[in-house]
Amino acid sequence: MLNLSGLSVKYGGFTAIKTLDIEVEKGELVVLLGSNGAGKSTTFRAISGLEKPSEGEILFEGNAIGGKSPDRIVKSGIVQCPEGRELFHGMSVYQNLIMGAYVHRKKKSEVKKSIQNVYDLFPILREKKDNAAGSLSGGQQQMLAIGRALMSKPKLMMLDEPSIGLAPLIVEQMFEVIQKINEDGTTVLLAEQNANAALKIANRGYVFESGSIVVEGTSEQLFTNDAVRKAYIGA
Ligand code: ATP
Repeated sequence: MLNLSGLSVKYGGFTAIKTLDIEVEKGELVVLLGSNGAGKSTTFRAISGLEKPSEGEILFEGNAIGGKSPDRIVKSGIVQCPEGRELFHGMSVYQNLIMGAYVHRKKKSEVKKSIQNVYDLFPILREKKDNAAGSLSGGQQQMLAIGRALMSKPKLMMLDEPSIGLAPLIVEQMFEVIQKINEDGTTVLLAEQNANAALKIANRGYVFESGSIVVEGTSEQLFTNDAVRKAYIGA
């Protein structure tokens, strides 16, 4: 479904990611692991059209999308749920969800149905639909960010550090929901520092270090890899 080949991105003279090869099959849940600054967000930004690759190719369902505009990329079926959530804090939960459907200009009845699906997945958002996004707890804001991303009915959803800053119990619920979204048919690419939780739900993963992939494999292989355990699982 998604193929990155020889992908590099530079910020000025600094190469943030170097000749990456990544493949995601339809239906998979794939995790990108790595510490702060390893290049996970840059990879997402390149896929979303927010950064232009300096080298290499990004294919989505066989079409070259590298360097295309973000709105075209969303229209093609990719959505990014950014690190830090980037909600519209002064707008209500409902209005934030509506914004997620903006690019598609769908019929009102379809948008309403998508909102009901998001409310079914996150009942707390239904309860708080008229509250300002900025008044929600961290966990609820993350649910809203995921809900807003789902409003575009993505084929591929990229989630950047959804567990960051959340209490352990909420993290557990968040990962359960991500797994459910994947089981319901959305392919998921997840960037995480919480390797333990991410590998429990992922099929496969890639480990980033300083802009390159240093290890890749099935979740089982990564979970039992000594270097990965030492660096990211702490055992
Ligand atoms: P984090 O979880 O902290 O976002 P990450 O693995 O997603 O980490 P990136 O944000 O992709 O890493 O950063 C990769 C490298 O690129 C880092 O060295 C970072 O300092 C650098 N970088 C990121 N954004 C920019 C930018 N806009 N200008 C210059 N350098 C940048």
